[in-house]
Amino acid sequence: MKIGTIASHSALNIISGAKAEGFDTLLYCPQNRVKFYQSFGLDDSIVEIESFDDILKMDLSEVVLIPHGSFVAHIGAQKILKSDLKIFGSKELLKWESNRDLKTKLLKEAGFAVPREFLDFGEIDCPVIAKTNGAAGGDGYFIAESASEIEKMMNPDLQYTFQEFVVGTKVFVTYFQSMAKERTEVFGADIRYETDADSNLRFNERPSFVVVGNVPLVLRESILAKYYDMGVAFVNAFHKLAQQKMVGPFCIETIIDKNKQIYSFEFSGRIVAGTNVWIPSSPYSYVQFGEPMWMGRRIAIEIRELVEQERLDQALG
Ligand code: ATP
Repeated sequence: MKIGTIASHSALNIISGAKAEGFDTLLYCPQNRVKFYQSFGLDDSIVEIESFDDILKMDLSEVVLIPHGSFVAHIGAQKILKSDLKIFGSKELLKWESNRDLKTKLLKEAGFAVPREFLDFGEIDCPVIAKTNGAAGGDGYFIAESASEIEKMMNPDLQYTFQEFVVGTKVFVTYFQSMAKERTEVFGADIRYETDADSNLRFNERPSFVVVGNVPLVLRESILAKYYDMGVAFVNAFHKLAQQKMVGPFCIETIIDKNKQIYSFEFSGRIVAGTNVWIPSSPYSYVQFGEPMWMGRRIAIEIRELVEQERLDQALG
């Protein structure tokens, strides 16, 4: 059994973790990125491809693939769902993630406060963030104070969801749901740094939300305890709605306002780039394991333990 992924997003995290656990690794890499990944000493993992889509045509029956954000964006959730690829984690959760209605349903089922959504212009009574459907990384989003302002800013060819704009601090918390150990681990927190919404050099009131990177965040412990409960609630809600056990990394994306109210606006059912800030360890994973533990390594350990328990197939979507 080998571990593979495509060369982008959190590939360094995933491949280094799998290597640390002694797995053979495969990094599907377009030609223009080969030198970059070679510079990290990953020559023996690199499989050159022409486009990321190529992996749909390859025989990967011996490979467990670790999906990440670019993996889903480049290949497409629908193609992944229909494929025979051995994807670590739940393909079903990727489906819920890629559909706005299902996404909100799951967040609500978990008991989270979510920003209000408006289907009708007439109902809008607060500043909103307009989200283009299907966009990745906040592309094309805008914020507006009123319905008339929105009308001026909208691209008539696009479909939008209007969501209450929550003023506060972004907090992205990552978890690992272990099937082998039957427990939920809070892994780490970060703030996604976005241009130019997070820039101090702001020239206008219409910030864009294009992700540049991630900044580590260590939460007040009392707040972290709330997030632990949220992680457990999320896993239970998915189990209830999808009738499936969850396994692997996931992330709950939130904003905390000045009253310490936590609003959840999004989740990811896979490794997120925010875990890259916690190589070789997050404070929480270090306390949990007593040794450096980054998300790529944590995934590899889970795969090994499930192989030992002869139930890896239950963890492959
Ligand atoms: P990705 O798929 O990469 O997670 P996305 O396209 O689904 O991104 P969101 O994560 O929903 O987009 O939002 C992008 C950014 O917009 C967030 O990181 C946050 O800064 C801001 N944002 C989203 N929803 C709200 C909200 N309700 N109130 C205030 N800001 C928000």
